[in-house]
Amino acid sequence: MTTDTHHPVLVVGAGLSGLTLARVLHVNGLEAVVLDLEANAYTRPQGGMLDLHEETGQAALRVAGLHEQFRAKVHPGGQALRVLDKHARVLLEEADDGTGGRPEIDRGDLREILLRSLPENTIRWNSKVTGARALGAGRHEVTLADGTVLTTDLLVGADGAWSRVRPLLSTATPEYSGISFVELDLLDADTRHPECAELIGGGMFFALGDDKGFLAHRETDGSLHVYTALRADEHWLSTLDFTDPDAVRATLSERFADWAPGLRRLIAECDGPPVPRLVHALPIGHEWQRTPGVTLLGDAAHLMSPFAGEGANLAMIDGAELGQALAAHPGDTEAALSVYEKALFPRSEETARQSAESLETIFNDRAPQPLIDMFASFATD
Ligand SMILES: Cc1cc2nc3c(=O)[nH]c(=O)nc-3n(C[C@H](O)[C@H](O)[C@H](O)COP(=O)(O)OP(=O)(O)OC[C@H]3O[C@@H](n4cnc5c(N)ncnc54)[C@H](O)[C@@H]3O)c2cc1C
Repeated sequence: MTTDTHHPVLVVGAGLSGLTLARVLHVNGLEAVVLDLEANAYTRPQGGMLDLHEETGQAALRVAGLHEQFRAKVHPGGQALRVLDKHARVLLEEADDGTGGRPEIDRGDLREILLRSLPENTIRWNSKVTGARALGAGRHEVTLADGTVLTTDLLVGADGAWSRVRPLLSTATPEYSGISFVELDLLDADTRHPECAELIGGGMFFALGDDKGFLAHRETDGSLHVYTALRADEHWLSTLDFTDPDAVRATLSERFADWAPGLRRLIAECDGPPVPRLVHALPIGHEWQRTPGVTLLGDAAHLMSPFAGEGANLAMIDGAELGQALAAHPGDTEAALSVYEKALFPRSEETARQSAESLETIFNDRAPQPLIDMFASFATD
């Protein structure tokens, strides 16, 4: 039964996990309402490229009936790879010959494909969830910031790292990983920053050493997106004044003082304000007891550091598999949730472990050699 205030399935969060779930439910004739705190679909820039993996992100798009639309938006050349040391010596270079298994798409394009695939009014923007509580017998009540109270037979927390739904299932909270990012953008790079554009190349770029580095990517709009990454105290970023971009650039430049001038140019030439970001992760192997009428998807379930490049891929396969499980168990939500969580927990644990290992592979005093060894081991697998 659906009324204005009661919904059989209520999904909190219109990120990749929540949108994929809503889409897979829709193709199976089931409807969900998705709540998101954003004012509309376009308030938050999505930025960044995602490479979608065959067995997770792409598998989810197949289940959602959207794989062809994805293929049409793949970024040609985006699977190219360069790995440099702090002296800007190129130690590994791979071209994108179009045969790799990890095609790249702009996050905004991917989100647009999912948004357009849903019936109108599926997503309720401007709906910030401030609390959720169990009503018994698997039903839940959700309160929004404007005081609206909604009830549901199935509550799905797809609300990311700082999930408001997660406390119904677990006491775990994300912990700082030890890595701090300052994000930089260099716009219209071929024209305005040709040396930086040439340095970074057509796809993914790592310049590493001394427990820090530059992780960068060429975007589809011709800009360069650069994560300046350091092992730092959790409070270090809060000591920088991000209202003063020149001061932030100067501090960053100091941290890379003995690095090649070509790499430091990425800091000096950045356009717009640098953006701080702390990298957090939930404990590896985060799980919960089956609790009637509620579950988690994506980062809400298994936030991990981005160094295995799997978070969005997992978010999408979680959404697809939960949608399939619900469609396969009509009238038996608990059976569907058990099937979903049985696959979710080991998959998340394995990938969270890989992400934590990748962090150590990237940030160490022998870098970039361990990363090069890792890519070489993939090539021989
Ligand atoms: C720097 C960086 C680089 C990354 N690179 C990659 C990569 O290369 N490959 C990859 O696979 N993954 C990558 N990831 C991880 C990936 O971005 C996430 O794992 C993925 O976006 C998680 O999707 P989600 O739907 O679970 O959560 P989110 O995308 O966080 O979506 C959550 C949604 O919930 C909404 N919300 C939150 N709280 C509330 C509330 N109280 N009420 C209502 N709505 C709410 C938010 O507005 C948001 O729309 C990266 C992450 C970072 C930080």
